[in-house]
Amino acid sequence: MEELTHYIGGERVKGTSGRFSDVFNPATGEVQAKCPLATADEFAKAVAIAEEAQPDWASTNPQRRARVMMQFVHLLNRDMDKLAEKLSSEHGKTFPDAKGDVQRGLEVVEYCIGAPELLKGEYTDSAGPGIDMYSMKQPLGVCGGITPFNFPAMIPMWMFAPAIACGNAFILKPSERDPSVPIMLAELMEEAGLPKGILQVVQGDKEAVDAMLDHPVIQSVGFVGSTPIAEYIYGRGCSNGKRVQCFGGAKNHMIVMPDADMDQAADALIGAGYGAAGERCMAISVAVPVGEETADRLIEKLVPRIEKLKVGPYTAGDDVDYGPVVTKEAKEKILGLVQSGIDQGAELVVDGRDFSLQGYEDGFFVGPHLFDKVTPDMDIYRQEIFGPVLSTVRAKSYEEAIGLAMDHEMGNGTAIFTRDGDAARDFSNRINIGMVGVNVPIPVPLAYHTFGGWKKSMFGDLNQHGPDAFKFYTRTKTVTARWPSGIKEGGEFNFKPME
Ligand code: NAD
Repeated sequence: MEELTHYIGGERVKGTSGRFSDVFNPATGEVQAKCPLATADEFAKAVAIAEEAQPDWASTNPQRRARVMMQFVHLLNRDMDKLAEKLSSEHGKTFPDAKGDVQRGLEVVEYCIGAPELLKGEYTDSAGPGIDMYSMKQPLGVCGGITPFNFPAMIPMWMFAPAIACGNAFILKPSERDPSVPIMLAELMEEAGLPKGILQVVQGDKEAVDAMLDHPVIQSVGFVGSTPIAEYIYGRGCSNGKRVQCFGGAKNHMIVMPDADMDQAADALIGAGYGAAGERCMAISVAVPVGEETADRLIEKLVPRIEKLKVGPYTAGDDVDYGPVVTKEAKEKILGLVQSGIDQGAELVVDGRDFSLQGYEDGFFVGPHLFDKVTPDMDIYRQEIFGPVLSTVRAKSYEEAIGLAMDHEMGNGTAIFTRDGDAARDFSNRINIGMVGVNVPIPVPLAYHTFGGWKKSMFGDLNQHGPDAFKFYTRTKTVTARWPSGIKEGGEFNFKPME
């Protein structure tokens, strides 16, 4: 059984706690490796190394730091298949999806190549008599990040690339479900020229997270994961005086207006609802057709498309639509929620409960499910299922549809499908949700915009990537300088020759 490691001080190091968590191959259900779970002391060792290394990195000029990012992009492209293969084997997502995971992280690294421009300060000449004023964006010091299982390459890169480009050291605590790719990324960063100790990976669970939240040297904590943990980390991190940003769970609604292109809407729901087995924070989990006729037409279009979905292991090739979910517990939770939907009166139009794949009977596969006539009081509507389960809530009017999305406690993403510019504009303006798609089901902003939800999907002020990341990972210092005038009467400077 492979024993995985931390990445501390530029080395793969074994865990010393004696505690491990199982890393599965979700397609077969077998345990493929053991992930060490760090103690607070192991975490503190990484902090001491980062603290020692960071000042030199901060004083490395931003163009040189950007060159490391540029080289890292080349190495990511060189090793794309290797990274995606490892990622798929631990996460279960299809090979093209795994490459997409690396690619969306890589795009943020590309954005960070612009660090010299993004880190430029501001200057006011003659703010007063003989007074100039300027502001600098300085790194925070040692920063930490905690990431979820569903994007084990992309989300770590969304955090460490801007943090490091800004001159910080970064300690990552990745998900213990798929911990190998983050180590590979840290090694590639060093191959790209990053000094040892600037990017470290400490594997672990709550013990390592609490060590990060309580360590006085850690200046900032970034978190992506479920809402209850996001709330906990935000509270504890802030009360310890750290800068914290936490991105939580989601329940993304897609409103389908009567004038929408129904084939386009159905295709969009298939990709956004079932892609990656629904394990995306931007997955659409609620379809809201407006009007009974729209709902009937939509369901009619969805059912044959869902029945055609191919579920299988990533090794089966490119025509697999989605793979297994990450663990047996995740599968049980999803099937438990499906049962609650049936018990609470929703209509199960496509039933994936008996799904089984020959040769992979112990894998964590979940067949696709479609519910109709879901109501807002049901658990399948209120809770994030994080599986291949799409719920349909029939709305009588546009106002009822927008009201549903607005009243839900989550506010990560949403979409409207319509040909009506007025409706789309009203929806985009009024909706209290962070990322909005108009005829786009998964409106993930590109690297040079920022990513973040509202309501219980986000705790903090600044979003991920884009210009916000450069604000989150720096602090502003403003200098007001007055030099006594050296000009003597007659217009000559009063220079003293050097001895
Ligand atoms: P999770 O909350 O279980 O775990 C996330 C991280 O927190 C992991 O590193 C984990 O080790 C750690 N953690 C877990 N329990 C902890 C505890 N009690 N104390 C301290 N740390 C703990 O989430 P997950 O299952 O890995 O990921 C899925 C969730 O992430 C979904 O809710 C999804 O919507 C969300 N997500 C959100 C975004 C976003 O940008 N908003 C992006 C991706 C995923």
